[in-house]
Amino acid sequence: MSDAARTPLSVPVFAGREREYLQKCIDDAWVAQNGPFVRRFEQAFAQYHDRGDAVSTTSGTAALHLALLTLGVGPGDEVVVPSLTFVASANPILYVGATPVFADVERATRGIDPTQLRSLITPRTKAIIIVHLYGHPADTDPLLQIAREHGIPVIEDATEALGSTYKGRLCGTFGDIACFSFNGNKLITTGGGGMVLSPDQESLDRIRHRTLQGRVPGREYIHDVVGFNYTMSNLQAAIGLAQFEQLEHLLERKREVAQRYADGLAGSSKVEFLWEAEWAQSNFWLQTILVAPEQRVATMEQLDAERIESRPFFYPIDQLEPYRKFAADPLPNAQWLHERGVCIPSSVSLDNTAQARVIDALLAL
Ligand SMILES: *Cc1c(COP(=O)(O)O)cnc(C)c1O
Repeated sequence: MSDAARTPLSVPVFAGREREYLQKCIDDAWVAQNGPFVRRFEQAFAQYHDRGDAVSTTSGTAALHLALLTLGVGPGDEVVVPSLTFVASANPILYVGATPVFADVERATRGIDPTQLRSLITPRTKAIIIVHLYGHPADTDPLLQIAREHGIPVIEDATEALGSTYKGRLCGTFGDIACFSFNGNKLITTGGGGMVLSPDQESLDRIRHRTLQGRVPGREYIHDVVGFNYTMSNLQAAIGLAQFEQLEHLLERKREVAQRYADGLAGSSKVEFLWEAEWAQSNFWLQTILVAPEQRVATMEQLDAERIESRPFFYPIDQLEPYRKFAADPLPNAQWLHERGVCIPSSVSLDNTAQARVIDALLAL
């Protein structure tokens, strides 16, 4: 079989004005930071989320780093973060010299388990990072409630959840600071990039200042904080804006793909397709299934034999080498999900024939 027949996990689609906007950057010789597409992308992104402003960054990781710095998190502080997430949710905690405290997740939502969260809070807890894993919203209200009771700010890692809603409200509008990613395989891509949202304009101003090397506006080579080169280029924003203009279509397609998996796998006794909680609308960024632990590897091998790409769920971060020393209590749900979870082809360009092959391969288990 030719390589063209391979079904990838997730590939971007450039079906909008990407070329036109990139051409404009080149024609105008404006490829780097502070470009017009950067402001346009930020404004469109802010408006969609009903916010006055948004700050673009070089990555979701940079966005999370800036969020922690802006909340004043540093050495001696603890930051609660779920164990089952991409490692970049936790790395910035170490960048600022703070201590990660790993929370277990709920099986039903893959978000932080509110019943456990309370027991993790200490007088040193300086922030809580909530993650909407694989696009499905965490059960956010009880998490916010606990954070509020203790006066602890919430960072929303919405890197996987652009366009997802919790009780009708968009993910990324709950946290004191919310972070998005436009990495290569995210719902929309800039080839690498991120965005920060906040209801607090002062925080956003401080974040913007830090993305631009801490340069004092209007004064050449005067810098009043140690900043970063964390701002998006005009080229990235040109692609980002063109991608963002197609968001509604991308969300619709992801939902169609999810619905087909749900229908196609409904009769299976071996594969559970993960649908939404009743209060959630997932963007179905990655389509996910659960299988018996003893079948997880076999499932992935079977798919691979059919030239279908799949991935296991993330490793619980507290089991990874740099984080083992921060592991405390066992986190049974993170482990439970890790042992059973598989991500299956999720591209918006996945056609019905290719998807039927994935479903058949899973039904043949
Ligand atoms: C992708 C991702 C990040 C990091 O975003 P980058 O743009 O790749 O730096 C952080 N957290 C989660 C949960 C992610 O999936």
